[in-house]
Parts: sequence; C-alpha cells; structure tokens
Amino acid sequence: MALNENLEKLSNACGVTGREEEVRNLLIKLMKPYADEITVDKLENVIAVKKGKKSKPKVMLAAHMDEVGLMVKTITKEGFIQFAKMGGIDDRILLAQKVTVHTQKGPLQGIIGSKPPHIQKEEERKKVVTYDQLFMDIGAENRKDAEKMGVKVGDPVSFDVKYAKIGKDVVTGKAFDDRVGCAVMIEVLKQVGSTDCTIYAVGTVQEEVGLRGAATATFGIDPDIGIALDVTVAGDVPGVKEFDTSLKMGQGPALTVTDSGLITPPKILRMLLDTAEENKIAYQLETGLPGTTDAARMSLTRQGVPSGTISIATRYIHSPVGMLSLKDAANTAKLTVAAIQKIQIHF
Ligand SMILES: [Zn+2]
Repeated sequence: MALNENLEKLSNACGVTGREEEVRNLLIKLMKPYADEITVDKLENVIAVKKGKKSKPKVMLAAHMDEVGLMVKTITKEGFIQFAKMGGIDDRILLAQKVTVHTQKGPLQGIIGSKPPHIQKEEERKKVVTYDQLFMDIGAENRKDAEKMGVKVGDPVSFDVKYAKIGKDVVTGKAFDDRVGCAVMIEVLKQVGSTDCTIYAVGTVQEEVGLRGAATATFGIDPDIGIALDVTVAGDVPGVKEFDTSLKMGQGPALTVTDSGLITPPKILRMLLDTAEENKIAYQLETGLPGTTDAARMSLTRQGVPSGTISIATRYIHSPVGMLSLKDAANTAKLTVAAIQKIQIHF
C-alpha cells in the first residue's frame, strides 16, 4: 500500500486523545506485513518490532496515534451537547464545524452552533465565542432523544473532514498531526530492509495531552536512540514572519534543533544532517518553537535516551483540516531509513 493510501485511511479514522482504538487497529493491520512482532502495552501504545542482526542498538520510532478533538460533557434538556476540549484547540475555529459524535451505538453527525449573530449585541459580536458558549446540535428533540440515539457523557467527538488530494503532491485532511507520522513510520518499516539494529516502531497514545504514551513505551523498550516522527508548523502563509518560523511546506523534512521540550543532542543532529546531505535530501532546520514532541519524553526516560525529531511542515495544524506535501512525507521516510542504516555505524 502506498503512503498516500495509508495516509488517507489513517486520516479518516478517529482517534481523539485517549480513544485511539480505531487508529491502533488500523496501524496494527498496516504494520503487520513488515514487523516480526506486534504488541500493545498496558497504556495501549502499539509496538511493532523489526528484529536486527544484533540486539543492539535499539532504535525507537514514535508517531502518536491521537488527535485533538472534543468530548461530550453535558446534554442539555433540550437535547444539545456541550463539550470539553481534548488537546490544544483554538476556540475561534470551532464555530459552524461539522463533527462526528462517536457513540457506542455508532457515529452521529452534528454541527457546532452558537447563539445566532443576528440577535447578539454589538459588543458580543466583537468577542471570540469561547467553547463553553458553543454546543453541538445532532438534531435531537430533547435529552431523552439524544440518549436514545446513543449519546453519553465522555463520548469522543472528531471533526467531520475527509481526506482529499488537491494538488500534484498536496493533500488536505483531518488529524495529519500525527497520522502522517504514522504513515511515514509504516513506510520506514517497509523500506528499511535488514539492519543490524532492532527497530521499535511505536504508535503512541495521549501525546496531545502531555506526551503520556511515550513515557510508558520508552520505559518498557529502554531504547538506545529515539526518533519522533511528527508534524510542525509551516509558516509559509500570509501574516507569518520568518522569525516566527521559516519552515515551508514542500521544502523537505524539518529537523528540530530545539523546541520547548528538547535540545537535540549534537551527535543525533549531526547524524541526521549528514544523512540528509549524503543522500541529497533537502531539509529544513527549526528552532525555538513553543511546541514539542514525543522525543522530549523519550529523551528524559530512565537515564536518558538521545533523541531527535523529524517533522513534516504542515499548514493549519490543530484545526479541523490540515495541508501537507506528500513529497515531504516521502522524504521524511527516506531520511529516517537512511539514518537507521547509519546508526549501525555510529552507535
Ligand atoms: Zn503531533
């Protein structure tokens, strides 16, 4: 299966933080042909192992399965759903979105509504409508009806957006953060061939709420090196200064020098840079962004794990729909494979 097809399946699947089951099942199916062994740990990270010729070094790849989304908080007596946010979502992008409420009885469609602007006072219209003033409308007659449809407090809610290819290499879709990392990880397992080192390809849970899955997975695996495959902010849109971020969609994998949780060890950064240059893969460097990735958690596990991040510069992350270049995703896989081959020499 090609990267594009895998990304489509992964993007359309739902895995709101803490409810990653659908993505996990899909990832198990997609990684199976290329893994010697697949296990699920107690926090429900999925770990695919590709055994090397020697047992060491152990390389851990991490791509998180979860996506930012919403959760049913209260059902009003009129049958509207009020919600909590799962992960970092800007309130301004919620209004009028189509959503899917994932109930035990199956998915329900809904839209996010608010008090109509026509009857808002002028002062009100100037303010951001915060999420606690918004609600989901699933067309229920009242609370009883909503419950009969299957809605329960705690049900996860995802954005109702389908994957689409809109340019030669450009695609749009939901949850590219971090389904593209998952798709790249599958690609790495597929392309890597036989190596001396043993590879642990991990689909982590609950990254968006504090890199939680990476904590238990890294402790269990006890790797010698960690590489997170994730997305980062593409700044190539109007209104963004180069100082804020110089990363551009379609200009190659981004290597993290520093972010808010990680200072990439020089040895790891050097290895990734040399690998990119030797293989003539265009890359970008990023530093000083406020976010972080699973690499931050990997690096602080046990006595420390030298870790780095390879990212795909993606537009509009943490909104209902993102945009990225498939070329960047393919080159991220290529760079990761080449780096793994180099690890055997360096570590
Ligand atoms: Zn991410």
